[in-house]
Amino acid sequence: MSRFLNEKYQKLVPYTPGEQPQKQRLIKLNTNENPYAPSPKAAARISQEEISKLMLYPDPQAAELISAISEFYQVEEDRIFVGNGSDEILAFSFMAFQKQNKKVYYPAVSYGFYPVYSDIFQAEACPIPLADDLSIRIEDYKNLDGTIVIANPNAPTGMALEPEEIEEILQANESNLVIIDEAYVDFGAKSCVPFLEKYDNLLVVQTLSKSRSLAGSRVGFAIGSKEVISDLNTIKFSFNPYNLNRLSILAAAEAVRDREYFEETRNKIIATRERFADEMKRLGFTVLPSKANFVFVKSDVLSGEAYFNGLRNFDIIVRHFPKPPIEDFVRITIGKDEDMDELIKATKELLRTEEVRK
Ligand SMILES: *Cc1c(COP(=O)(O)O)cnc(C)c1O
Repeated sequence: MSRFLNEKYQKLVPYTPGEQPQKQRLIKLNTNENPYAPSPKAAARISQEEISKLMLYPDPQAAELISAISEFYQVEEDRIFVGNGSDEILAFSFMAFQKQNKKVYYPAVSYGFYPVYSDIFQAEACPIPLADDLSIRIEDYKNLDGTIVIANPNAPTGMALEPEEIEEILQANESNLVIIDEAYVDFGAKSCVPFLEKYDNLLVVQTLSKSRSLAGSRVGFAIGSKEVISDLNTIKFSFNPYNLNRLSILAAAEAVRDREYFEETRNKIIATRERFADEMKRLGFTVLPSKANFVFVKSDVLSGEAYFNGLRNFDIIVRHFPKPPIEDFVRITIGKDEDMDELIKATKELLRTEEVRK
């Protein structure tokens, strides 16, 4: 720490991203990236001609992308905000939407960025414990006195709430903004976007990083009331009006328009997930019911740490969160079928070794 750092940041504990190892031939199932390449149309749009225009600033309105999202979700353009990854949108939201008491409620086991954003934007973090089965108890989110953030499906559990359950939360929090982080919604959960017609206290945040294979482009979007979206624009234009670069705007617009490719790759991941979950259950694992592109699993014989380290020795990287109540679990991203087969093979090997040791 330098002696120049603002005192209010001196205790900040930053978010720890999953590793991005540069080593080849690793099976990387640790950061919920999509195993399939982005839409070929997105790739084709980043032409030499577009690259040759990089001396120019991008469109600060990202109009082409907003129009593609508007078309896809059938919502007006002034109800859409785009950001440099949904992380940026979540950051802007924590910055913008705090009540007088500064409280922000979110599930105690959820996306690791929520506590970090609370910290950096000086909100009062109010984590709400999960039920014993690691589900979100909606009763705990009624009549609160602060902003509410819920990932649906939740991470790292993969479990989703039904839209009717979220509607109950919206109804019981008329004076609170409820932010639903739908990073994984396309893998089997139902989006809350249709509720926006009825509730102005809802902000839905999505990303192109997972279901549209564009993690490297850094593009997310939010849909909300015109007023909430206008507030986000106030923050953006006070911070970085050019938050999306020229190439990302083009690639993202093409990816959103290519519905067929999106559905095809998304369906493949869902099919792989279901097959993989069944195999893991057969091997004696507890597998939480996932609506995401990952599964959260617990072995009946290996600790979370032992399983995580064991897979690493096979050059397979997954994610382990060494803190209660989830220290016995590991989170496994759904890759291609052949990646999951390798993982199953390694797991059988590890279980066999464990048997011999006993
Ligand atoms: C991956 C993820 C995000 C952020 O993704 P971006 O790449 O910043 O768009 C947001 N929320 C959750 C729960 C995520 O898992």
